[in-house]
Amino acid sequence: MTLYIETPLIESAAMSGAPGQSVWLKMEALQPTGSFKNRGIGFACEEYARRGARRFVAASGGNAGIAAAYAARRLGVPMLVVVPETTSARALELLRRERAEVIVHGASFQEAHAMATSLLGETDAFIHPFDDPLLWEGHASMIDEVARAGVKPDAVVLSVGGGGLLCGVVAGLRRNGWPRVPVIAVETEGADSLAQSIAAGERIVLPRIASIATSLGARQVAQQAFALSSEHPLRSVVVADSAAVDACIRFMDDHRVVVEPACGATLAVAYDASTAMKEFRNVLVIVCGGVTATVAQLRQWADRT
Ligand SMILES: *Cc1c(COP(=O)(O)O)cnc(C)c1O
Repeated sequence: MTLYIETPLIESAAMSGAPGQSVWLKMEALQPTGSFKNRGIGFACEEYARRGARRFVAASGGNAGIAAAYAARRLGVPMLVVVPETTSARALELLRRERAEVIVHGASFQEAHAMATSLLGETDAFIHPFDDPLLWEGHASMIDEVARAGVKPDAVVLSVGGGGLLCGVVAGLRRNGWPRVPVIAVETEGADSLAQSIAAGERIVLPRIASIATSLGARQVAQQAFALSSEHPLRSVVVADSAAVDACIRFMDDHRVVVEPACGATLAVAYDASTAMKEFRNVLVIVCGGVTATVAQLRQWADRT
């Protein structure tokens, strides 16, 4: 059984900027629940089920919770998701579609998370949205597919929330013999917990999240993600919310796929050929996806920002 699919790798004529440059899109937006999270969370859930977990528990009203609910349904394991009161009606509907039991609790992620961990029984497995080596091992499969397709990137552009995607992509680069391929790690202003940690020289905690890219809204990145910022060639880039939203809308026209601003942050860098990407010939862009933003919402944000 696979709980994720092999996604297309598409060369983007719209993004290839400099002459002789190729920009490759790894289309994680096409995963069953619309984001790369199906890989790592699917992998972790399968492993926890194999080890005897009788129920999965998560605290996420976003793509992580939806991916966990999908994995649970496919594996026939009950799923409990605790989400904060700020969770959108759309996200609740997507969770219920995957047959998850949903508890709405608390003003923010912190309270929902505390509630979820207090409900954890002995035979439950807690599914973390980004900080779990099993997740990273699952995410790494996207780089295996790129290698099998015969494309060797000389840079990878990806978004960073808590850094699970970053850890997974670096694991994938290492296990395919590409340990020195640089990663361009993109965040939005107000959700830039990695950039601020790098600047401070220690893993900081953001006082609050002030970005519409809610899927990047981890107040603190995983320890392993912070460690990679010195162990692996990594460039940290921060973009404005408005640039992320504009890139989502442009991407819809160019590639006919809807993604969240969390993904738009990466697309904004990929579209701006003059900046971080200019010196690379084969750029791999992780189109991480996201299902919590609708076209109407993207338009609204574009008008406002
Ligand atoms: C989870 C998520 C991210 C951030 O991933 P991390 O592993 O937390 O860094 C980015 N984009 C989308 C669409 C996501 O669902």
